[in-house]
Amino acid sequence: MSPSYTVFLLAFFVYLSCHAIAFDPSPLQDFCVADKRSQVLVNGFACKNPDDVNPEDFLFSGLDKPGYISPDLGSNVTLVDVHKLVGLNTLGISVARLDLAPNSGLVPPHIHPRATEVLTVLQGTLYVGFVTSAPNFKLIAKVLNKGDVFVFPIGLVHFQYNIGRVPVVAFAGLSSQNPGVIPVAKAIFGSNPPISDDALAKTFKLDKDTVDRLQSEFWTATN
Ligand code: MN
Repeated sequence: MSPSYTVFLLAFFVYLSCHAIAFDPSPLQDFCVADKRSQVLVNGFACKNPDDVNPEDFLFSGLDKPGYISPDLGSNVTLVDVHKLVGLNTLGISVARLDLAPNSGLVPPHIHPRATEVLTVLQGTLYVGFVTSAPNFKLIAKVLNKGDVFVFPIGLVHFQYNIGRVPVVAFAGLSSQNPGVIPVAKAIFGSNPPISDDALAKTFKLDKDTVDRLQSEFWTATN
């Protein structure tokens, strides 16, 4: 094997391994049920002793029912991540149920910093989309109906909006045990402590009074 080919192969495998460890790790055992009481700090949770693991560690119940639909946004997202289903620890996956009220129920623009989301509509008519990163900022959007599946790539701003006359029910798979969520409006105008209103006025081409008003609004964790 020529030296240059060896270097190429080496570089290629380094490239592959970098990608392999960039997200939730591949399991090295059947399971690693999260031990929430452990004081050990690792990327995720330490494993519960396998002898103490029981079937309930792998079970979450209740996703057949809609969550509480907030009147302001007309939506609810029930995320079942590792915090609610300890058996998900180290497995790189989670699930969510979305309910959106008829005529304008909204899951506002948000980002999952650690997961791609793949959404399946079970009922209703849902306008969804995501925006690509710089320099194009292209909106990739679609109106979904029952049975449609749409994917939102990791790290991109996306939204879901009920444009129909019936409630929307949808389920999402997410490629992390802990996808996280960054609601855009909440992160910008509802941070604690607040971002400088001068900086936000400049950013959004707004006067400071408008920024101050927006910062004094109540932003839910899902805004
Ligand atoms: Mn989402």
